[in-house]
Amino acid sequence: MLNIGLTGGIGSGKSTVDRFFLEHGAYIIDFDALAHFVEEPNGVAWTEIVNTFGSQILNNDKTINREKLGNIVFRHAGKLNILNGIVHPAVIDEWKRRMDAIQMKDGRAIVISDVPLLLEVGLQSLFDLIILVYISPEEQIKRVMKRNNFSRAQAEERLKAQMPIDEKIAHADLVVNNEGTLSQTKKAVEEIWKQLVEKEKEVGRRGRLFS
Ligand code: ATP
Repeated sequence: MLNIGLTGGIGSGKSTVDRFFLEHGAYIIDFDALAHFVEEPNGVAWTEIVNTFGSQILNNDKTINREKLGNIVFRHAGKLNILNGIVHPAVIDEWKRRMDAIQMKDGRAIVISDVPLLLEVGLQSLFDLIILVYISPEEQIKRVMKRNNFSRAQAEERLKAQMPIDEKIAHADLVVNNEGTLSQTKKAVEEIWKQLVEKEKEVGRRGRLFS
């Protein structure tokens, strides 16, 4: 089994690269989806969030109103830390459960966990290898403006909330450059996949455990 953390910056192409890895047979775990899962009504984090921030942050159907919660924690570092202290451990527990399930099913799996804030949160030690999906900051701004229908100022504000993508390069074992066409990225993923298959054999022999 090989346990990879995949990260990047906003709009750098993580989901796009996930899809290419999936075509080769990788297992994909999306941390954003895990966060949504634990925050579903009566989910592990949901109960604690409601106990902490009050039921006024809920919609009528008991789902968390992200805008209301966001307004409470936005620009209030203390409250944001409290929220992260609830959500992050719940996400890691759920991730471990899913890793266990994959390992039971397929001991030779190559698992790619898509973790947008892997480096900002400092989760490197969870993984055997870190892959960075890279595009330049200027290209990030262009793609985020186009995808989200944002002004340049809105896109720049989102970028500023993250570690600059150029600083992330030093923390990565492998970099997928996604600045070219999709077919160039697909080809780059194909080359990296071959390396991952070899790595999995090494790691498999060493018998590293993820939890
Ligand atoms: P986020 O974390 O912000 O959700 P992401 O890193 O998962 O984003 P994607 O959603 O894969 O990024 O890509 C961001 C946008 O850029 C999408 O609109 C996608 O279609 C587009 N895109 C991805 N790769 C390329 C490429 N090589 N050329 C042009 N556009 C691309």
